[in-house]
Amino acid sequence: MADNSRVWTHIDFNLDGKQAGNLHVPHSVDLSAYAMIQIPIVCIRNGEGPTALLTAGNHGDEYEGQIALRRLAQTLRPGDVRGRVIIVPSLNYPAVEAGRRASPVDEGNLNRLFPGRASGTVTEMIAHYVDSVLFALADVVIDLHSGGRSLDYAHTALAQRVADTAQDGALRRLLAAFGAPHSVLTTGSGGGGATTLYAAAAKRGIPALTTELGSGATLDPQGLAIAEQGVRRVLRDYGIAPGLQCEPAPATQLLTSLGPRHAIYAPCAGMMEPLAKVGERVREGQAALRLHGLEDPLAPPLTLYFSADGIVSCRRFPTLCARGDGLFHLAAPLDEH
Ligand code: CA
Repeated sequence: MADNSRVWTHIDFNLDGKQAGNLHVPHSVDLSAYAMIQIPIVCIRNGEGPTALLTAGNHGDEYEGQIALRRLAQTLRPGDVRGRVIIVPSLNYPAVEAGRRASPVDEGNLNRLFPGRASGTVTEMIAHYVDSVLFALADVVIDLHSGGRSLDYAHTALAQRVADTAQDGALRRLLAAFGAPHSVLTTGSGGGGATTLYAAAAKRGIPALTTELGSGATLDPQGLAIAEQGVRRVLRDYGIAPGLQCEPAPATQLLTSLGPRHAIYAPCAGMMEPLAKVGERVREGQAALRLHGLEDPLAPPLTLYFSADGIVSCRRFPTLCARGDGLFHLAAPLDEH
């Protein structure tokens, strides 16, 4: 229930105009008994109409979405809007401040904690507030991610496959409007399963899209442009900002993820020499990488191979690998599956 959340804000989501404030998450510690973690939030409303919930910084080391949403919050005027736009550009603020995927406050990985807990850890309280309060206001949800420190990602928008035909249609329309070069319908069997923000939104029947728009915890200008244009097109398409300027949607390739069973994991520690690039089409049996052991310089590297035909959706970004690290993930054109 919404009213048992311990997170609160001065923002009145039913007020017209542009409001900027914070979500306050209680965090009582030795030297600050009544401290609040303050997460910036902007609400832009103009009369009745649908609501878009736009989030980034769910993982703190992913930047394209955070900057795209700040720019949107600064430029979008209430007069542009028919309905409401709620923007939370740095959702897991402690992780953002630390430049980390997870929160230094409680080691919480926000995108693995949905639907959260009302009286859980700080990160669980953030998830619970999004799930119980913000989702209840939203007609469409976009959660902008990138590869962060550990992944190199092809520019991709993702939505979770649903059985319902009407919801499936809404998702495909959303992916087409966003217009990332790759659009992946996920199986729900990937890294986050049902614990991600966009999966939790989908579970509540809200069309939800997430993205992967860059790599290595740096800012990819092309990924930033895709985020900015994609969000603007979706706001237009939903009639939330019908006059907003944006470029026409480029063609997108519809893919499905091949899931963890066709991913490649490091069988031992070593240095990865990749033999394929993200976005590249590969064949079953094709060499994916050489893994060079650290101890014996005369030992030949271990070569690892792709187990299916597909398109490389992402690869591990850091060269140094530990046993069990995910090194390559594949997707495949939807019509082939
Ligand atoms: Ca992420």
